[in-house]
Amino acid sequence: METTRILFVIRDDGDMTEPMNIMLLSALSKRDAPWRTTHRALLERDDILRVMDDVKPHIVACSAITGSHRAYLEAIRVVKERYGDSVLTVLGGPYCSSYPGVIAKEPYLDAIGYLECDEAWPAFLEAYESGGGRIHEIPNMITRENHHRVLRPVEVPNPKTGQPHIEYAVDPSFYRPRLTDLDSLPYLDRDLIYRNTLFGGRLKRTHMAGRGCPFKCTYCFEHTWNKVYLGKGKVLQRYSPVRYCEELARVKRDWPTRFIKHYDDVFPVFPPDREWLEEFAEVYPKLVGLPFHCLVRCDLVVQSPWALPLLKRAGVFSLTMSIESGNAFIRDHVIARDMAHEEIEQAFGEAHKLGIRTFSNTILGIPGPKIPKVGDPNFDARVEGIVNDSKLNRPARRVYIDLGKALESARLKFDGDPVALRRFVANYLKDTGAKVKLSDALDEARRQFEGDLSAWRRFVVDYLRSVGLHETQLEYDFESVLYSIGLGVNFGEFGILFPYPWTDVTEKYLIPRGWFDGDYDKLHASYQARSPLTCFTEDEKTAQENMALLGTAMILMTGSQNRFVRWFGRPFARFALPHLSRIRSRRATAFFQWLYTATKIVMHEKRVYPMHLSAREKWKFFLETWKLDVWKRFRRKHHQPVLRGSRPGSFLGGPPSV
Ligand code: SF4
Repeated sequence: METTRILFVIRDDGDMTEPMNIMLLSALSKRDAPWRTTHRALLERDDILRVMDDVKPHIVACSAITGSHRAYLEAIRVVKERYGDSVLTVLGGPYCSSYPGVIAKEPYLDAIGYLECDEAWPAFLEAYESGGGRIHEIPNMITRENHHRVLRPVEVPNPKTGQPHIEYAVDPSFYRPRLTDLDSLPYLDRDLIYRNTLFGGRLKRTHMAGRGCPFKCTYCFEHTWNKVYLGKGKVLQRYSPVRYCEELARVKRDWPTRFIKHYDDVFPVFPPDREWLEEFAEVYPKLVGLPFHCLVRCDLVVQSPWALPLLKRAGVFSLTMSIESGNAFIRDHVIARDMAHEEIEQAFGEAHKLGIRTFSNTILGIPGPKIPKVGDPNFDARVEGIVNDSKLNRPARRVYIDLGKALESARLKFDGDPVALRRFVANYLKDTGAKVKLSDALDEARRQFEGDLSAWRRFVVDYLRSVGLHETQLEYDFESVLYSIGLGVNFGEFGILFPYPWTDVTEKYLIPRGWFDGDYDKLHASYQARSPLTCFTEDEKTAQENMALLGTAMILMTGSQNRFVRWFGRPFARFALPHLSRIRSRRATAFFQWLYTATKIVMHEKRVYPMHLSAREKWKFFLETWKLDVWKRFRRKHHQPVLRGSRPGSFLGGPPSV
């Protein structure tokens, strides 16, 4: 068999997590095919045309997310212009699954991989090697030749102009069901990524025990994926505990490894996962025996009370449990986290009781509804807008009070005394809060306050405050930071809401209100950058940026194991955060950035991923993280050259080195 050389072109987005997708595709390429070789070109470091000359690949493959896709398309154009049809260019990843129409629009692309390609990719390589145009018959692989019969044009309104335009969907008969037997996958080809990159020296190794997530958070594309896969396999897929741990044991044997991060969106702690987790808690300590970190959800930890003790037995050191917003209205209705305050507090409390360190993620810059002023001429319209917001999403597990029934006895009791009834209803609504649908509550109140406009408006303002709404955006953001701090989290990150494509929050909330114009090309690759939404003033954006940096820095004190430091830290954070965040000066933000990075490194080392670094390793890691964080926060230009340009000298997994 003649050799097939595959070159994976990778852009270094500054992730501290190794690209598992490329490692898997490389392993799949070589499984049972010793005649195939895989190679790597790093856009920021390598001169891609020189690598092409050296490797002489038959296939150039890239995997793009929205934001990084421009760099890959540009690289593919450069390659294709020089090498023409002597090389096959293939793009995959979430970008192609969101925009399969890219194959129809980009003349330099030969094929794209759509959705999961674990089976499609090796089949495509085989078809390529056997020739005769078979590559156009491989489900999930859409080529220049087959796209006419595989893509279906769909008319969708252009978010910028409102005019209809054509996007493409893929014929469901042309993509496979989800892969269910993860154990059949080869071990990830870590050598491709670790060799001669900063990842090689990292002592934390990442893998995923499974795939899929059944939740419907509106800022995430999981549920859109689930819709596309409807009827094509169950949502949650798992490696068996033994197969998974054997692979991790191999990683530990082959690469310096001191810590494992299980990077599943949600580690197997769903109620049906009990048996899986019990076996994992037996096998992992024997085969791997390293401290680990994983991501879970607070509501699942509460619903599966066996989960935390089993994780503890397996050797968990720290957990990520995302809060996303400290405001219940935003969580319930805007981002659909479907999680109550009580569940969040219980989950963090139980983790701390077991001595498990906690890491929370929180999103700032989620536009929340603003309570109108009593004298606002558009008062009714604004209240109507808030009621509509409350209907966007509803927590699936919440049982709402039937207001008609609940007030039956009060109506009888106060029959003939409308003032007493009104007072009773007003108090009842404030006491029950979000247990009554906002629309029902305001309808009832409107009836009670009929004819007294001023009292009605005062009631509405008080009532909206009582259910957690605020007058300004920054109140929502402060609330979120202080909520995380109040939970005693040991480490926390605060990102900014970014309007990613295929997410409900973008398509049903931000674009229809005109807060984002749908131009995804201008988005920064990092969600830690300044908000791109137009509903915030520049001062608010600066305050959000500062808050995100200071919030993490303050957790150094508020999440300390030392009771005195904690006791001092929380009131200090409450007092200082609103004042410091509002400082409008790039120098101040740069200083907060320094504080953020320094404290983050300390907390990572002590509280999240303890790897017992030597002083030299610590210093090296500090420099890498510092440069990376600065790049993530402050890189302003979005259209820099992509070939050896945007982060020249970069080494995969690290910051710019020059
Ligand atoms: S944000 Fe997390 S929990 Fe929510 S849908 Fe996405 S992966 Fe699932």
